[in-house]
Amino acid sequence: GGTPLYLGIDFGTSGARYSLIDRKGAVHSEGKRAYSPPVGGGGAGWASSWRAALFQLLGDIPPAHRPSISSISIDGTSATALIVDSETGELLAGPFLYNESFPDALPAVEAVAPANHTVCSASSTLCKLVSWWNTAGAGGGAGSAVLMHQSDWLLWLLHGRYGVSDYNNALKVGYDPAADAYPSWLMAQPYSRLLPPSVMVPGAPIAAVRDDVRSQYGLSEECVVCTGTTDSIAAFLAARAAGPGRAVTSLGSTLAVKLVSEARVDDARFGVYSHRLDGAWLVGGASNAGGAVLRQLFGDDRRLAALSRGIDPAAASPLDYYPLPRKGERFPVADLDMAPRLEPRPESDAEFLHGILESIARIEAKGYSLLRELGATAVEEVLTAGGGAQNETWTAIRERVLGVPVRKAEQTEAAYGAALLALKGADRRAGAMAS
Ligand code: ADP
Repeated sequence: GGTPLYLGIDFGTSGARYSLIDRKGAVHSEGKRAYSPPVGGGGAGWASSWRAALFQLLGDIPPAHRPSISSISIDGTSATALIVDSETGELLAGPFLYNESFPDALPAVEAVAPANHTVCSASSTLCKLVSWWNTAGAGGGAGSAVLMHQSDWLLWLLHGRYGVSDYNNALKVGYDPAADAYPSWLMAQPYSRLLPPSVMVPGAPIAAVRDDVRSQYGLSEECVVCTGTTDSIAAFLAARAAGPGRAVTSLGSTLAVKLVSEARVDDARFGVYSHRLDGAWLVGGASNAGGAVLRQLFGDDRRLAALSRGIDPAAASPLDYYPLPRKGERFPVADLDMAPRLEPRPESDAEFLHGILESIARIEAKGYSLLRELGATAVEEVLTAGGGAQNETWTAIRERVLGVPVRKAEQTEAAYGAALLALKGADRRAGAMAS
């Protein structure tokens, strides 16, 4: 083939995308496919629509590029999992989706996990596993059942080996990324035998592509399938915020911050937790404030952009708001009863918008200072993703309020981040073969 290429595939909440890059990070091809939601509901339909999207995307890659693909990685939505029979490959249960809640399992999980552990949430992967175990799994026929995260399963469709996952996806099933092992409280449970035994660093080579898939799509025998990550970590990786102190703020319908930190920080009160990121930690928090309110108040994004151009970002707005779409905040203020505050409303829409943009910037700044107070590395530079990243007025306001350089991230697609993981995997394999 020609220049070696690296394929990343993202399975987000609404559709799947691919990005095919070279070693320098240039995109050679990209594409997307929507999922068709399962007809008549039912979990199993999701699995077939994911599988269909995966193979449609492979078929969408220009045939001339396919022999040049050195490696593939896939990210999936966090806490999305399936139970599969490892003897037949058949789906036994699920998929359990990222936002599905299993409160029935919470007492059993809370009884074994340390207080405030990330698995102690009704939508955690562990609650999904335990809920299934308590209703169906402990009965007969579960001997060959295994748990797979969405990304494990999609990768498995390509390589065919059981029992492999990555430590980002495995966090919400209870894996301890600091110890690089499942904790003993988890291993003592009867359902622990369903957990993927081999939990690797994201972007680690797993195996070659299955022969049938390889020949059908014209992939190379050298093409290696690599471990993935979650969709939000893949989006963070895309921005290439390397090193402690670097951060990515996502200004979508909600505001989310992610900071590379030397220290691991977890605080359930604020919904703050850390993912392992090679030799550092990725600390994150998410506010309910954000762009959703902007859309509610100002209608379409073009009007928002036009109004913003009339604002002087160097001037501080005296208006102090807390724009929430509904009651309740978690980060950087833990107050489930907090009410939205959008008063007083000035006559001028531009002044009103100025106040809101500045208030959201203060929430962002407070978020980074809270992470610092909780023990994380201080923020030094912020890259921006999401719809709000387009707004240069807002960027300038944020830079003034945050007191650190702020700029738009060049790449924000999770698929691009997954492609960077594929590149890492190809390099790791080359390193392993050389030593
Ligand atoms: P999500 O995926 O969370 O829906 P996006 O990343 O697509 O979010 O961003 C959409 C949000 O970006 C909307 O809530 C909208 O208010 C906001 N947005 C779009 N354009 C602008 C702009 N020029 N200035 C500020 N916010 C914007």
